[in-house]
Amino acid sequence: MTNRKVFYVSSLLIVPVLFLAFYGLRFLGRVYAIDQWVPKWDTLLILTIMVVLERVYTYKYSVSQRSVATRDVISNLVNLYVTGAVTGMIVLPVLTFFPEHFLERKLVLASPQQLGPVWLQVLVIILVVSFSRYWVHRLQHSVPFLWELHSYHHRVTDIQASNTYVSHPIDFALRNVLIFLLLGVIGFSPLALLIAVPATNISGTFSHCGGDVKGGLLNYMFVTPEVHRWHHSAKVPEGYGYSCNYGVEFSFWDIIFRTFYLPVKNGVAEQPERIGYPGGGLADEGNYLKLLLVPLGLYRPLPWATQLVRMVKGPKREQPAE
Ligand SMILES: [Zn+2]
Ligand SMILES: [Zn+2]
Repeated sequence: MTNRKVFYVSSLLIVPVLFLAFYGLRFLGRVYAIDQWVPKWDTLLILTIMVVLERVYTYKYSVSQRSVATRDVISNLVNLYVTGAVTGMIVLPVLTFFPEHFLERKLVLASPQQLGPVWLQVLVIILVVSFSRYWVHRLQHSVPFLWELHSYHHRVTDIQASNTYVSHPIDFALRNVLIFLLLGVIGFSPLALLIAVPATNISGTFSHCGGDVKGGLLNYMFVTPEVHRWHHSAKVPEGYGYSCNYGVEFSFWDIIFRTFYLPVKNGVAEQPERIGYPGGGLADEGNYLKLLLVPLGLYRPLPWATQLVRMVKGPKREQPAE
């Protein structure tokens, strides 16, 4: 086998191998309580490996994200470490109100056994999480206010590890936090949650890998980078309305609801030439404060800052008459 062929085969194998490895590591992390030392260590590890893959399996339409690097770092840190905690502080008291006041316990169910065997609970969690994320994401493209919040995620000019968590925190919480809080107060078996939650998180995070890694048959089950790139295409495929491939972790919901799009030519998945705001027109937003405040109507440049910029730039000169 030539070197080129070996490289191509490795690009096909790397995704399933990594999915299995990440899944196994999550359990190992639980056993050794690594999260206490480095919170979200498994997500950080996935992001780091995604960056390495982007260097090894370089993608033909890759666009440098250097000009928005500061925005990317801030956005990733906020959504990884702040959004979930703040949403929990606001939403959990509301969610636990019912069981605490009417049932005098913290969880809706008295015992996890009421939900059936663990394997059934795993299946239910996986289906409920992915189904609700698919529909929330679809609404985020069709309801104007939700799109206002979500559109910042679609202004990026390439999908890369660096912009995996580039999203308005409210947009991120609606799609990625709320459903887990809701499931948390129902009273599922902790073992079922431990098995099911990584299955929903790993491919969701990995879908933003900017490397030319192939999904193969996994494209029809998981939201791989090849599948998610079409969701970010600047040109929405004809007949797909707002967008296609809304699934966050599993692509089978898109197949069921006829929103799946992945053209294949000679056994190879084709990819969009340009990533960006659907239909074009809006450039990427590098200012995190604008991303955060403009959709809420709260962004106003501070008068003293505007004056300072004017002083530095000097007064506007009149154009000389010709
Ligand atoms: Zn979207
Ligand atoms: Zn995305």
